Amino acid sequence: MQTADTIVALSTPSGRSGIGVIRISGDGALGLTRSLLKDPDFDPEPNRVSLRTIYDPKAPEPIDRALVTFFKSPHSYTGEDVVELSCHGSPPLLLRVLDCLLFLGARAADPGEFTMRAVANGRLNLTQAEAVRDLIEAQTHAAVRQAARQLGGELSARLQPIKDVLLEIIVPLESSLEFVEDDLPDDIAHNIVQKLQVLSVNVNEMADSFRRGRLLKEGLRVALVGRPNVGKSSLFNKLLSADRAIVTEIPGTTRDTISEVFNVEGIPVFITDTAGVRSSSDRIEQMGIERTRRAIADADLILIALDGSQSLTDEDRTIIKEASDNLCLVALNKSDLESFRTDNVNQVSNNILVVPVSAKTGEGLGTLCTELIKPFSANYLAENSFVITNARHYDLLRRTSEALKSSEELLGHRVSEELILAKLYEALRFLGEITGETTSEDILSQIFSTFCIGK
Ligand code: GDP
Repeated sequence: MQTADTIVALSTPSGRSGIGVIRISGDGALGLTRSLLKDPDFDPEPNRVSLRTIYDPKAPEPIDRALVTFFKSPHSYTGEDVVELSCHGSPPLLLRVLDCLLFLGARAADPGEFTMRAVANGRLNLTQAEAVRDLIEAQTHAAVRQAARQLGGELSARLQPIKDVLLEIIVPLESSLEFVEDDLPDDIAHNIVQKLQVLSVNVNEMADSFRRGRLLKEGLRVALVGRPNVGKSSLFNKLLSADRAIVTEIPGTTRDTISEVFNVEGIPVFITDTAGVRSSSDRIEQMGIERTRRAIADADLILIALDGSQSLTDEDRTIIKEASDNLCLVALNKSDLESFRTDNVNQVSNNILVVPVSAKTGEGLGTLCTELIKPFSANYLAENSFVITNARHYDLLRRTSEALKSSEELLGHRVSEELILAKLYEALRFLGEITGETTSEDILSQIFSTFCIGK
């Protein structure tokens, strides 16, 4: 029995639950299970569940009665022998079972190691493995749908014809390099340029879908800005319906930024409550202001909070000016106060929509939420096509596109075929990196380190 490289992990979240699933993968999975069941003859039928008693090998008394499922190599998630133990979901019990397995010679799995083995054994390609992670982390139904499509192999299926055409171009170029002394004939060169142009359009379309895809997966990033005391923290809390930010009457208390997420019509909205954007000599507050500027730079939309019970101040105008290069929305707060006036806002730039709200009573917040997602939701909801949701894929598609463009230009200048081929191979390599065929070990371990343990 070879157990040195048999891995084990809890695949369900730690904490009390109905059941907790422990997964074992590797050559030693069945042997370890036999020891754990104190049953050397345990010879389960693959893919069948049996109810068994689990023992601590160092003690006589049973630990649990658990459902044991055996998946025989190669017909398992990892492609190796896999045993899943569905124990009762008590944290100390699960820890004890894990300890027993480690004592028997299993190794604790690294994050994503089960999925990494699935890729290594050809059960999943890299984009499918990434889809597993995305599916687990999906925050909306739309994100689930996209991840499920990617898990089904849609991205790799869309990349395959592009790779095929690239090979169609590469093969005659290679042979012309080998067999022909003369330059590439004009008609062949022209034909290649045309093919490259079609490929570029395809690749760019896929890359461009990332703007929508990111929204699906990551949601909308909103930076909440405004001078101190206009009610940013109150607004933030009311939107989240949770008292996370500290509300005080001392100007400049929200010194750092706080980010939280709430859902508007299924879109995750990540809102960052920032320190007041204003000149300050206070060092700590200055750091907060830096973060505010960064939050503005990172945001898809800036929500400017103004106090509608007061006239606009110079500070308000500076903030509006600072934010107005971006997509903005004004929350005119404190509509519950007698002194609240909407005509204050007429001075605000014409193309910024103003929504009267009260963080105190909640009035207007529904409208505010609808307006927050409006610039994005049309695309978001109507679009049902496959989109790129992963920044790594986006980056590689961009690089593919650049390599295709360079090869097209080089061909236009009729430089040597070797240089053109180098660019074409580069494009092919970038595409291969997306699906994992040409991905380096470093990058693979970087990707799998973002997985949770037990997956
Ligand atoms: P921030 O400095 O912009 O984060 O402002 P805060 O959220 O700390 O609010 C400053 C003060 O305004 C606090 O006393 C809040 O209770 C008050 N405040 C905030 N929003 C409203 C509102 O909609 N109506 C009223 N009447 N008071 C509010």
